[in-house]
Amino acid sequence: MSDSCIFCRIARGEIPARMAYEGDDVVAFHDIDPKAPVHILVIPRRHIPSVNALEPGDAEGVGRLYLVAQELAKSTGVAESGYRLVMNTGPDAGQSVDHIHLHLLAGRSLHWPPG
Ligand code: AMP
Repeated sequence: MSDSCIFCRIARGEIPARMAYEGDDVVAFHDIDPKAPVHILVIPRRHIPSVNALEPGDAEGVGRLYLVAQELAKSTGVAESGYRLVMNTGPDAGQSVDHIHLHLLAGRSLHWPPG
């Protein structure tokens, strides 16, 4: 938990967000600046700054992010049309919030490789 982390504050309900899922360990909310018709961020409630900070004990928690993303892909109707799950890490990847988050992007054809 971090008082200065915007995603910790969203998870605690201190900053409003359009929530898509709220569980004991994981929450998901719509990105404020969507890059695709479906753009949801799936995060652990626990503050983990980046993939670089993951430890072996985080394996199950990170796996849960993917299971929630799978459910959200189904509930938003994109499971069959396709979606992309991305976790940007560090400056070259454009990570702008230091709390791990899985981007669920869908609803249009997504270019590969990304820019
Ligand atoms: P990244 O650049 O991979 O670190 O992704 C951070 C994402 O968080 C960006 O897509 C932002 O648009 C999004 N974001 C930042 N602040 C908020 C917020 N208050 N509510 C929802 N999404 C946000």
